[in-house]
Amino acid sequence: MAVTIDSPATNLRQRGSAGGSSSKANGTTKLKSNAQKIANGESQALLKVNAVPTEHGQEMDKKLDQHQDYEFGGPAGVIAMMVGFPALMYYLWICLWFYQGSLVHPKSIDDIVPFLQRMGQHIYEDAYPTKFACVTYLGLTAIQIFFAFVMPGVTLNGLPVPSMGYKTLPYHCNALLSWYATIVLAAVLHKTGIYRLPWIVENYGPIMTVALITSFSVSIIIDLCSRLFNYGGGPIRMSGNVIYDHFMGISLNPRLGPVDLKMFAEVRVPWVLLILISVSGAVKQYEELGRVTGNMAHMVLATGLYMNACAKGEQMIPQTWDMFHEKFGWMLIFWNMAGVPFTYCYPVIYMVRAPASTYDFPILGQIAMFTTLILCYWIFDSAMAQKSAFKMQQQGEYIPRKSFPQVPWSVVENPTYIQTKHGNKLLTSGWWAYARKPNYAADWIQSVTWGLTGGFNTPITMFYPIFFLVVLVHRCGRDFAKCARKYGDDWDEYCKVVRWKFIPGIY
Ligand code: NDP
Repeated sequence: MAVTIDSPATNLRQRGSAGGSSSKANGTTKLKSNAQKIANGESQALLKVNAVPTEHGQEMDKKLDQHQDYEFGGPAGVIAMMVGFPALMYYLWICLWFYQGSLVHPKSIDDIVPFLQRMGQHIYEDAYPTKFACVTYLGLTAIQIFFAFVMPGVTLNGLPVPSMGYKTLPYHCNALLSWYATIVLAAVLHKTGIYRLPWIVENYGPIMTVALITSFSVSIIIDLCSRLFNYGGGPIRMSGNVIYDHFMGISLNPRLGPVDLKMFAEVRVPWVLLILISVSGAVKQYEELGRVTGNMAHMVLATGLYMNACAKGEQMIPQTWDMFHEKFGWMLIFWNMAGVPFTYCYPVIYMVRAPASTYDFPILGQIAMFTTLILCYWIFDSAMAQKSAFKMQQQGEYIPRKSFPQVPWSVVENPTYIQTKHGNKLLTSGWWAYARKPNYAADWIQSVTWGLTGGFNTPITMFYPIFFLVVLVHRCGRDFAKCARKYGDDWDEYCKVVRWKFIPGIY
């Protein structure tokens, strides 16, 4: 039974300022003062309020931890993705690398077999998993694991895990120093000639193949260990279909000693590799053209900001949906270890292979692009920070950090919220007063600027924004369905209060 101070079991809803509402419910004075403490991040008492949900909330959580419906088109849909994504990645790479972004295809029925042979030839000759590619990808991953073990950082508890009896797991957040150490190491290796940065982009095909093989291998190993040895908390939410469960994952929290593998895979592999690919492209361009184009500089800044945001805000990641709800299966493993770094960088690959005249924007275009990026980055960063701080304050886990850059409005003073019968609170102020997914909208607009850096000569460079839009709309649907099950009519009320999904007045 949850210890409650502000009686969520009686479905008391707190709206208006958390510190100054005029609620008429009994115990309002106590509620006000405790809520004020939440807002200030200084309440230990409130830890007990939200650390464990109400009995009703626990019932809802139990239901959520059972398999309900097939997602992603069920077994057939996930098989199509597991075969289709790697094939698509090879195809788009071939188009960018050898045909300047043209979507090549067979010229006639008779050309189908020769076309496939040509594609296979490209992969065999230019994407073979060479020793150099293995050293690059596996070496980088090993260095990141080493940093994850040894670098100083802050340790905090994640959200209570229902399937573990609401135990919390500690997360040692040291991605920021690991990221700084990676920058220094990359600069030293480049300067000394031991590992020159342009080699990454020059070996894009072989490194991608190593990433694909590694991601499939890791997902199989984690799957088997989870099923056979209850690794990572053991099987949960199982459908019984082997392939579908492999795609969605078996267990929730696989760990290597103190390192949470899911959080490691989300931050240290994809975004580190992505910024290194961008910098690699920029250095190569500088060495060949004698300058770095504005569009290439945009990609370096954009991927750098994203990497830095993941590292400096690592303590917010345990509160995201991926961490507390998604299992560590093929979907997360493949996408983080291979999909993100080797598809989101398409504009860089195009810019490395094509003449600058086919993509570089005039100065006004550059200004518009950089301004949009910075503005949307700020909204994305502060929106994520507001919700995360709100959740951490309720848990008594809020630790203000000074990591650079701290953007304005990262914490909402005196937040308003809806108190659910589950026990959790839904934030209704800050950016979260305007839309239910303000972070998705800002994140997506950033991705549009990334895609546009490749100009208008090929649709391939827009892969990230197009794919990401589909991901976010689908993800949003899944998340809202989950929240509707979890919060019932409180969710309906929240949707009335915060009417828009992504952008107020539009969607
Ligand atoms: P959210 O940050 O929107 O988290 C969703 C969860 O937050 C919900 O399930 C709910 O969980 C809780 N929640 C929702 N609304 C509120 C509220 N008003 N107050 C309090 N809690 C609330 O999304 P994600 O975790 O999906 O994504 C995090 C970020 O990662 C996003 O910015 C997204 O764009 C980014 N992302 C980027 C990807 C990429 O490839 N670039 C891929 C995927 C995500 P609860 O059960 O606790 O209530």
